[in-house]
Amino acid sequence: MFTIGCHLSSAKGYLAMAKTAQQIGANTFQFFTRNPRGGSMKALDLEDIRAMRAFCKEHHFGKLLAHAPYTMNPCAADDNIRAFAQKVLQEDLERLSHLPEAMYNFHPGSHVKQGADVGIVKIADLLNQVLQPETKTEILLETMAGKGTEVGRNFEELRQIIDRVELSDKIGVCMDTCHVFDGGYNIVECLDDVLREFDDVIGLERLKAVHLNDSKNKMGSHKDRHACLDEGEIGIQALSAIINHPKFADIPFYLETPNELEGYAKEIAWLQSLRK
Ligand code: FE
Ligand code: FE
Ligand code: ZN
Repeated sequence: MFTIGCHLSSAKGYLAMAKTAQQIGANTFQFFTRNPRGGSMKALDLEDIRAMRAFCKEHHFGKLLAHAPYTMNPCAADDNIRAFAQKVLQEDLERLSHLPEAMYNFHPGSHVKQGADVGIVKIADLLNQVLQPETKTEILLETMAGKGTEVGRNFEELRQIIDRVELSDKIGVCMDTCHVFDGGYNIVECLDDVLREFDDVIGLERLKAVHLNDSKNKMGSHKDRHACLDEGEIGIQALSAIINHPKFADIPFYLETPNELEGYAKEIAWLQSLRK
C-alpha cells in the first residue's frame, strides 16, 4: 500500500483532520501534539479520538504520525528546559496511548554550546527516564539538517542516541528528505549509497517514516528550508525514485512542503501518479 499524507492543523480536532486528509486524497496525516511553538494543549477528547480511529479504519488509513513541538529540547543545558521536555514527552506519550495507530516523531534537540557528545547523552537519559516497558508508541528520532547545533545531523549521531537507550526496541527513525540532503547526503545521485550507509550505521529496520520534502538549498547547506515538490534542489525525479525504491515499499510518507490544502492535494495526486 502507498501510504501518503501531509502535515495538517489539529485546530478542529482529530476527526476533522482525518476527514480533511481523505478529502485531499491522503490515507494518513501528521499532526502536532500541541502548539508547536509553545507547550499548551487542549484537553483530550476521547470521543473525538474514537471517532477518528473508526474513520481511519473504515478508509484504510496507514499509520499516523504525531510530531512533538519544536520548543521541546531534550538536550538543553538549562535544567528547566530539560524538565519541560521531559514533561512534554511524558504527557504526549500518555495521550498517544489512546491512539496506538500513531507513531511519535521528535527532533533530538540542539546542544547549544555543550557539544554533540553531551547532547547525545542527555537525549538518551531523557528517553530512559520516560520510556516504560509498557510504552506501546513507536518513538521516532528525526534526521536533522544540522542547522546551528542540532543533534542528529548525521546517521552516526542518531545511532549513538539509540545505543544509549535501554528500551531501544521502541526507537525508530523518521528520515526527512530535505534534512538529509541539507545534511550532506546525496539522495539525488546516490540514493542506494545513502540507504546502504543508513543500513550500516543505524539499520534499515529502524526506518519507520519519511518526511517527503524538496529543499530550497543545495546539498550540505545545513539550513533546513523546505520547498514544494520539484521547486527545490532535490527535484521530482529523485523524490519519485524515493517513493518507488523497494526499501521504501512499506514506509509511510508525510509531506511537509510549504502548502495550503489545495497544494497538498495536488502534490499527493502527483505522487500517486508517479508511484509504480
Ligand atoms: Fe520535524
Ligand atoms: Fe521533517
Ligand atoms: Zn525541516
